Amino acid sequence: MRIDIMTLFPDMCDTVMNESIIGRAQKSGALEVKCHCIRDYTYDKHNRVDDTVCGPGMGMLMMAEPIAACFEGICQELNKKPKLIYMSPQGKVLTQQKVKELAVLENIVILCGHYEGIDERVIEELVDEEISIGDYVLTGGELPALVLADAVSRLVPGVLSSAECFEQESHFDGILEYPQYTKPAVWRGKEVPSILLSGNHAKIEKWRREKALIKTFEKRPDLLEKANLQKVDKEFICKIIEKNQNK
Ligand code: SAM
Repeated sequence: MRIDIMTLFPDMCDTVMNESIIGRAQKSGALEVKCHCIRDYTYDKHNRVDDTVCGPGMGMLMMAEPIAACFEGICQELNKKPKLIYMSPQGKVLTQQKVKELAVLENIVILCGHYEGIDERVIEELVDEEISIGDYVLTGGELPALVLADAVSRLVPGVLSSAECFEQESHFDGILEYPQYTKPAVWRGKEVPSILLSGNHAKIEKWRREKALIKTFEKRPDLLEKANLQKVDKEFICKIIEKNQNK
């Protein structure tokens, strides 16, 4: 998969995407991330990318033409029109389901706004989808773009050592992950649950599923309404509810 990020601050994005797991995945060829500086596509001698908002009001807005020229440059390089996502507090809030849908695409292009945002005509003419990372406002789209790029990248085959790494994680199948422990077996008097050291894989799997359901019930009961649960999971949740009612 190739992810292109259009930004006024490419170094900020490169720094993050070249580190750790994503950086190694790029070196191994499992993933390609390219950051483009929108300022390189300006057409005046001052390299202006923003201008005052039309009508009364404060602030600067990113102009349409440098963004369009940058996107067209990417389209030419790829020889196709990839999906263009604009990171925006006005978009649909990102979910793991959306991440899964994007991770199977060959290309995505992510546009980062800055200042007051971008000229509305870019959204109307070029943007396929607006995505938000939450109902709050940041100074720029770089952090949201990195959140999206990271979440998508880790589902791309070859980025993590195996699909098992993310299939049991929180939100993948709609619930939270079970509690996890590492060595030592006893830390400040607190023991790792003995079942995890028993070597009985079937029992461990059942224990983990039940703990995942309990955690979800306690921390995010709203998720259980939408999760794709088996009959046995539903029966277990009924038992937790009953137990809670009798407390
Ligand atoms: N004037 C815009 C509004 O009220 O909708 C907010 C602009 S914000 C200060 C500047 C840029 O940061 C946006 O263009 C967007 O790219 C990014 N941004 C800010 N908050 C975001 C969020 N919650 N999710 C995604 N992007 C966000």
